[in-house]
Amino acid sequence: ETLDRIQAVEPDVNSFLHITADKALKQAQQVDAKIAAGEEIGMLAGIPIAIKDNMCTKGITTTCGSKILENFVPPYESTVTQKLAEAGAVLVGKTNLDEFAMGSSTENSAYKLTNNPWDVSRVPGGSSGGSAAAVAAGECTVSLGSDTGGSIRQPASFCGVIGMKPTYGLVSRYGLVAYASSLDQIGPFSRNVEDSAILLSHIAGYDPKDSTSLKVDIPDYAANFKPDLKRRGQVRIGIIKETFGEGIDSQVEKAVTKAIEQLQNLGAEIHVISCPNFRYGIASYYIIAPSEASANLARYDGVKYGLRDEEAESLISMYNRTRAHGFGQEVKRRIMIGTYTLSAGYYDAYYLKAQKFRTLIKEDFEKAFRQVDVLVCPTVPMTAFKAGEKDDPLSMYLTDLMTIPVNLAGLPGISIPCGFDDNGLPVGLQMIGRVLGEEQLFQIAYAYE
Ligand code: GLN
Repeated sequence: ETLDRIQAVEPDVNSFLHITADKALKQAQQVDAKIAAGEEIGMLAGIPIAIKDNMCTKGITTTCGSKILENFVPPYESTVTQKLAEAGAVLVGKTNLDEFAMGSSTENSAYKLTNNPWDVSRVPGGSSGGSAAAVAAGECTVSLGSDTGGSIRQPASFCGVIGMKPTYGLVSRYGLVAYASSLDQIGPFSRNVEDSAILLSHIAGYDPKDSTSLKVDIPDYAANFKPDLKRRGQVRIGIIKETFGEGIDSQVEKAVTKAIEQLQNLGAEIHVISCPNFRYGIASYYIIAPSEASANLARYDGVKYGLRDEEAESLISMYNRTRAHGFGQEVKRRIMIGTYTLSAGYYDAYYLKAQKFRTLIKEDFEKAFRQVDVLVCPTVPMTAFKAGEKDDPLSMYLTDLMTIPVNLAGLPGISIPCGFDDNGLPVGLQMIGRVLGEEQLFQIAYAYE
């Protein structure tokens, strides 16, 4: 059924870079055979899942949306996809993304444009636009994305689905192609909170192959869901003051305000909280993330793997030509910014300063979480925009105003649909939890939903 659905809607939506139909059918038949033989099957047995094409899948091309990895077939499996396979999930395909996860609309993919299923003239958000659109269009039950500055939550908001970014270190990054390693985190897309919680329970957990992986026990996040917030004692919810007013689409503000009223009706105590350094998130991120990216992307040199320019006559020219042809504009822009901000004369002025602001943002959150359990704000200051509409990088960067601080502080965040604007486009409500506060965050999201 899922493969039929993909065939029917994919020409309009374009979520996938590769569809693994044959493998999926085989995997599904194996599950059927197990059931017929009375064998035990995993919790995710037979569940169709799509994976963002920046997670390595052994034997299946993994392009990162880049020409430089056009023919890259990983010789190993990422930890998350390994875990999913062990739980019986069926991979239906690898989804489109902004090249190396750099972008907010999936328009930076070197291969194709993905369209928003609610209005195909609009973008699905990004960088995990393909994974969000695939879930919204019913091309899979759940999917995985990666979130460095909002790339799960922002497309979830634009596509009207649930997108969850876990605490930094909760899900192994082994086999996730690195963009900005101190910020990258893998997480689920789904159509309801319970599916998100179940999927996270299966992909989270300590992994010795990722040096930043946390050694914590992973609960069954969906085990104790309650329909309201009263039975667990008073839940305190903080509205981040700085995320309302100027710069926010009035219809987004209206939908989010209504959602907060609903949380109050469910029994939550509402507080107004100030996070004064929140607004320095974007400026800090666009120094820290490109700095890390410029180092991480040094490995695409035409020697080890990926594209190689065959016409160059010297080693240096081979490096230059390979990278000139293999990387797109946005990736080159970030490599240049990162190389600059890390260079000897500028390190203190830019990189070090950005790290200091990162600490201030973290402290704002720590202070806030002494007063409340969860913080709420819009996920994105707007709804899905038209393809081609944001043609300057700065206006594109501004879409991540509300999501970036959460990555800088390493916190869990979830985007939940909370209504529509006048064009019938979905609006997302972001809830932010404490470090390792996933259980409570899911519970509140579940009660709201
Ligand atoms: N849109 C942000 C960027 O362009 C975030 C991307 C992400 O989370 N991978 O970097």
